[in-house]
Amino acid sequence: MLKALIARFKQGFRTGKFPPAAPSLPPDFRGRPQIDDDISPEEFERAQSACPVKNALYCDFEGAKLDMGRCIFCGRCAEVCDKIRFTKEYRLGVFRRTDLIVRAGDLDYEPPKQTDAAAKALRRSLTLREVSAGGCAACELDANVLGTLAWDMGRFGIRFVASPRHADAIYLTGPVSPNMQLALDKTWAAAPEPKFLIAAGACAISGGLYEHGNVPATPALFIPGCPPHPATTLEALLRFSGRC
Ligand code: SF4
Repeated sequence: MLKALIARFKQGFRTGKFPPAAPSLPPDFRGRPQIDDDISPEEFERAQSACPVKNALYCDFEGAKLDMGRCIFCGRCAEVCDKIRFTKEYRLGVFRRTDLIVRAGDLDYEPPKQTDAAAKALRRSLTLREVSAGGCAACELDANVLGTLAWDMGRFGIRFVASPRHADAIYLTGPVSPNMQLALDKTWAAAPEPKFLIAAGACAISGGLYEHGNVPATPALFIPGCPPHPATTLEALLRFSGRC
């Protein structure tokens, strides 16, 4: 027992200081993209032809756009076009699908604040039931990381639970493959009202590189990325429940 206590004392406090301190992000971290508003049609086409995801980059009557709900943050567009870059902005979670669209010239950004009273009621305790609906396990692993002592999201009262009956929200990852459709629908139906759907990762939001199955409700929180960085997910969950 004494040895265990000494070892524990020597290990010290291992949980990161984020939040409130800024997260420690890898040097090659790709956060919120920016597109310069003077991007030419030729430059845009070059970026678009380098992109492996259909409609992640597109152009309409307003100009060039990048859909963070489809983007896998591979960075190929920025490699071939210097009018597109990825910032270190990790606060990417939004409450409306349309807020994932980055327009050319959108250089200023503040993440949206939660206004939904039902979501804010979860500020002291948020329970999540994960459904991996055909994902590659990257989003699932980075969600799992949030439970480790390095991130320890339990200190904010946020935790994954085994049963949808105990969940405030269903945390969906993966593109919803045909084999997972029924399981997702049943899990959603089993969660008590009021309930929220959280779509984490490009696959859950849009299908990403794959066909998108049917989601049982409109997500109340979209967390883009491939996979979303744990700092992005934790910040999004805290903001979703009105804590920042
Ligand atoms: S970073 Fe996104 S938009 Fe750019 S090439 Fe990759 S998937 Fe396409």
